[in-house]
Amino acid sequence: MPIAVANTVAIEGIDAVPVEVEAHFDRATESSFRLVGLPDTAVREARDRVRSGIRSATPFYPTGHAVVNLAPNTVRKVGPSFDLAIALALIAAAGHVPPGPLRRVAVYGELGLDGRVRPVRGAIVAAESARRLELAAFLCAPESAGEAALVGGLAVIPCATLADALAYLDGSRTIEPAAPASAALLNTARTSDLADVRGQPLARRALEIAAAGGHHMLMVGPPGVGKTMLARRLPGILPPLAAGEALEVTRLHSVVGLIDAGHGLVTSRPFRAPHHGASAAALIGGGPALRPGELSLATHGVLFLDELPEFRRDALEALRAPLEDGVLRIARARGSVTYPCTAAIIAATNPCPCGAPDLSGCSCTPERVAAYRRRISGPLLDRMDVGVRLARPAAEVLRGDRPEGSAVVADRVAAAVERQTARGVVRNARLDPSAIRHVARLDDAGEGVLRRAIEGMRLSPRGVDRSLRVARTIADLAGDERVTVDHIGEALSFRLGSVA
Ligand SMILES: [Zn+2]
Repeated sequence: MPIAVANTVAIEGIDAVPVEVEAHFDRATESSFRLVGLPDTAVREARDRVRSGIRSATPFYPTGHAVVNLAPNTVRKVGPSFDLAIALALIAAAGHVPPGPLRRVAVYGELGLDGRVRPVRGAIVAAESARRLELAAFLCAPESAGEAALVGGLAVIPCATLADALAYLDGSRTIEPAAPASAALLNTARTSDLADVRGQPLARRALEIAAAGGHHMLMVGPPGVGKTMLARRLPGILPPLAAGEALEVTRLHSVVGLIDAGHGLVTSRPFRAPHHGASAAALIGGGPALRPGELSLATHGVLFLDELPEFRRDALEALRAPLEDGVLRIARARGSVTYPCTAAIIAATNPCPCGAPDLSGCSCTPERVAAYRRRISGPLLDRMDVGVRLARPAAEVLRGDRPEGSAVVADRVAAAVERQTARGVVRNARLDPSAIRHVARLDDAGEGVLRRAIEGMRLSPRGVDRSLRVARTIADLAGDERVTVDHIGEALSFRLGSVA
């Protein structure tokens, strides 16, 4: 009997690796089913699902000796996404599916015991892999077809059951290719508006600057002053995702299974707020499954680190390198790959560990406060271009007029981003030192202010660069070509020497 082959895909971290499922079937011997090339625990489950799926959905359950191999065996295969390919290869090896058509498609789905095809994570990445192999079609569950169809250049065939896939392959039924699905919403950022945040004019200004220049930001203030409310509104004042950015965000969310069934392109900027108990791997990615971390999932969006000093020390240490280098190294089975680190980080902390609303209610010893503040290391603090302290607003402020809404602020941010783009820079926060000297040259009065700050605030050379980047952003928000004394003055006011 010939060997039948079905093409499918394994997801490794954020990559798709082509996998061939080879099936050989021999009627002459006793009935058995060997599955090789999968980790031990997965083999039994896959075999049970496939056997039951074929029996339920088709008249073709082969009797005899079947061997199925998932190649290459150097690729790590996890999850149930190989079921559909195993079933089809097996049926083809038994002679019930023409092997030619099967060879020209990629199949990607889990099988239910009743023969239903279930969606699996990473459909868009898997479909991209099929297109690179120049395969004609991609067969998957209807729920993930809209996501896979975003890829374009190959027909995505929604198959509700194993029987649908067989009918498509032997030509007994025409199945209309799926159209790209409507947008997926990742969060509630759209519905939360800056107009809901009363008071805190300084923090609102800091947020606008952070958004306009792509700067990381730290907020220090007691519980209940609106730190989380402000952070949640950052995605809503950033410019809309560009087409390429939206695809990148979609891929990252797809491989971890965060695209809801029936949805496609992610069009809103991500907002990730991991708990402070998160491990280093959870934050920056890795672990045995090479899962992208929170920092990756916040790509082109916002990573909110609330109660920063409460985060695990090793997790904060792990964040340092990507923040310093501006690139994110993601581990893969073979070597690692680097991506630009494009998440805006917004961190928040209480002034002291007891979380008292003001100093008079604080029950902390000076040693405890000092230890708490030391938890945010100097280098990490130094990455926060924009720092701001928040206090509880007065009652009349809370009763006052509704403040400016997100749409107005977003317009100013968009204009400032356009000015940066016109100069040929991605974002001011990522200007390298030589470029800063060029685009953020100060007038004489500005130089004087900066010189005094270097002495008075003990500003390091790195700190000078950071303040100049922020000053450039403030000038961009104002629509000014030159960075003036006012701009550098305001930038310096957003430097926090310490969390105190
Ligand atoms: Zn306290």
